[in-house]
Amino acid sequence: MNIAFDMDGVLRPLDLTFIRMAEAVNNEHAWKALELHILTQTKPQLNPGMFALQGDSIYCITNCSSENSANKKRRWLKHFFGDMVEILPVFGPKGAWGDDYYRPVAKDKLAVCYDNDIDIYFDDCPDIIRIMRELHKEDLDFGELPFIHFIKYGAWIEEGFE
Ligand SMILES: [Mg+2]
Repeated sequence: MNIAFDMDGVLRPLDLTFIRMAEAVNNEHAWKALELHILTQTKPQLNPGMFALQGDSIYCITNCSSENSANKKRRWLKHFFGDMVEILPVFGPKGAWGDDYYRPVAKDKLAVCYDNDIDIYFDDCPDIIRIMRELHKEDLDFGELPFIHFIKYGAWIEEGFE
């Protein structure tokens, strides 16, 4: 079985309020504070190995702002999980919120799920999970695809935040 997890908000916590504040303040000190927060506070919050049999493959499908961001996330995964988790980055829109963010990221993450024969995917964003389910249902209606489960994980339950 191929099991995939979102990174921020699933494998590790991410304080979206801090990002929102840094965007609002938008100066060097705010961005530096956010970077420090991420560097010092992002410990694992979920062990993906707890979901897997020994022969299963575990992936992390995560939206990255740049190759540099993807490399930082790759190092974080390697440090805390060794070779257990393979990162599959997507590069969605930067600085976007609401449907301008959720829809393109959901589309990209779904394409990655298809390319890697993912059986089940966990994400903390309720909009992303809903859109992935809707798009996948449309794809199932038009073609022979294996069914994928998209599971919402975490405290974020209200959709439509912009
Ligand atoms: Mg997330």
